Amino acid sequence: MTRVLKSYLSGTFVAGTGRAAKLYDPARGTVVAETSTEGLDIAGALDYARDVGGPALRELTFAQRGELLSAMASALHEYRDELLDLARLNGGNTRGDAKFDIDGCTGTLAFYGKLGGTLGDRTFFVDGESEQLARNPRYIGQHIRVPRHGVAVHINAFNFPGWGFGEKAAVALLAGMPVLCKPGTSTSLVTARMFEILAAADVLPKGAVSLLCGSAGSLLDHLGPQDAVAFTGSSGTGAMIRGRANLLAAGVPVNVEADSLNSAVLGPDVDDESETFDMFVRETARDMWQKAGQKCTAIRRIYVPRESLDDVREALIGEIQRNLVGDPGLKQVRVGPVATAQQHRDVKEGIQTLAKEGRFVYGDGGPGTLEGEGLENGYFVGPTLLEVDGPGPGAVHDLEVFGPVQTLIPYDGTAAEAIPSVARGKGSLVSSVYTDDKNFARDMILGLAPYNGRLHLGGRKVADHSPGPGTVLPQMVHGGPGRAGGGEELGGVRGLHFYMQRTAVQGLKPLIERIAGV
Ligand code: NAP
Repeated sequence: MTRVLKSYLSGTFVAGTGRAAKLYDPARGTVVAETSTEGLDIAGALDYARDVGGPALRELTFAQRGELLSAMASALHEYRDELLDLARLNGGNTRGDAKFDIDGCTGTLAFYGKLGGTLGDRTFFVDGESEQLARNPRYIGQHIRVPRHGVAVHINAFNFPGWGFGEKAAVALLAGMPVLCKPGTSTSLVTARMFEILAAADVLPKGAVSLLCGSAGSLLDHLGPQDAVAFTGSSGTGAMIRGRANLLAAGVPVNVEADSLNSAVLGPDVDDESETFDMFVRETARDMWQKAGQKCTAIRRIYVPRESLDDVREALIGEIQRNLVGDPGLKQVRVGPVATAQQHRDVKEGIQTLAKEGRFVYGDGGPGTLEGEGLENGYFVGPTLLEVDGPGPGAVHDLEVFGPVQTLIPYDGTAAEAIPSVARGKGSLVSSVYTDDKNFARDMILGLAPYNGRLHLGGRKVADHSPGPGTVLPQMVHGGPGRAGGGEELGGVRGLHFYMQRTAVQGLKPLIERIAGV
């Protein structure tokens, strides 16, 4: 019997009625679950979160909210193996890919749990020093940041059903806002199970978290001025949400994390015998096979000095060939299927568009030879490496093909040529520069910074310590300008600010100091 996923609204698990969306095992094309949000009382659930969850969270100190996050992390971690299996079943994740998502979720919750402990016994922030505002020193101004009194609505992409939920929820809950999570429907099995685990563990105040498992329905119609929306997904959906009249009219803050054509640039100083070269090849190739290339941070554009192109091409092909494609349940398989039939069509079509302006140097968008049985109906795309003639304009800078696809771009080895070409991506989440030349590093970092949310510097001395550019660490901001959505998440305590109102308070010094507790 097909598993029916439920939403968790107003403290109760409820199933929608009507026509359900089907969730698939992408390795086999078989249905594994279904879900619907039709007929659910979404407006009522938002009110419940505002009226019950909000006050309960705001009453807690940062340290106490942090304890909730640590308890969430522990509760979910107990079911790690089951969650890893579900990520394979409904996301096509290899065990390594599934760990990236599930451990990424619990790790981020645990990080913010600890951070809460360091923020101590306060329920709001005092922002900066007070200012004397008149000749009389007893008249001052002080900024404070307090949790918003609405719901943090989190709309996530299909590629990280675990991490997407955890990374957003951790930050909002620590700030003191209740959360309503709407995962990408196609892979929501993991998120739905996480909510069952959390509800059974009973670690959160009532109304602190809600789940809308399936289509968003009327969700955004019911939001008001104290709510906040954090969205992750495609630029198109992000732009539509950002432009919604009711959200604009009510001044609802909307954070958008969207597409990104991330780059890796090899410096002209790096020879193919060096540790820096190996690091560059290793980290670039990882973004091809990990999550079958379905990471928003994955390197899509690989810039290589012309004289190093043959070496890099050969080394990358060597790395790619070692990664077998097929049944993600098999130990030897590194590249699973892409997540949905639609993704499969989009990726194959995108590869053909890129190929019109370049040539294939490995793969051709077909599945290649698959490891495993019964995979005929699976959504497989073999790793595909393309090459263009140079760093000039073209589809490679405009089209995000969200799969195991990368393009080699030769350049003349100067920052002056690389920077404007990377900038053609119109804003990225992350770019990487691999060099041991301090001047090249400086020119590239300062030149690329306006176009990127994060920059990753590879070099000989960090070759053994780096998780690679594709790993989003909760200490650092995640987001990027322009096409990447213009948003910002995480970044330690910085992430909390989105869920809090900064208010300037003016008045009598001793009174304000008493209120602020300084
Ligand atoms: P998507 O189609 O834009 O969907 C994203 C989310 O928006 C899903 O939960 C989707 O729900 C929801 N949605 C769609 N229409 C909506 C509407 N009218 N109102 C409210 N919600 C709506 O994107 P995707 O295919 O899931 O994700 C792939 C994209 O996400 C890629 O472009 C990737 O680069 C980007 N991404 C970015 C980041 C980042 O941090 N910047 C991270 C991961 C992925 P349904 O599933 O129910 O349609």
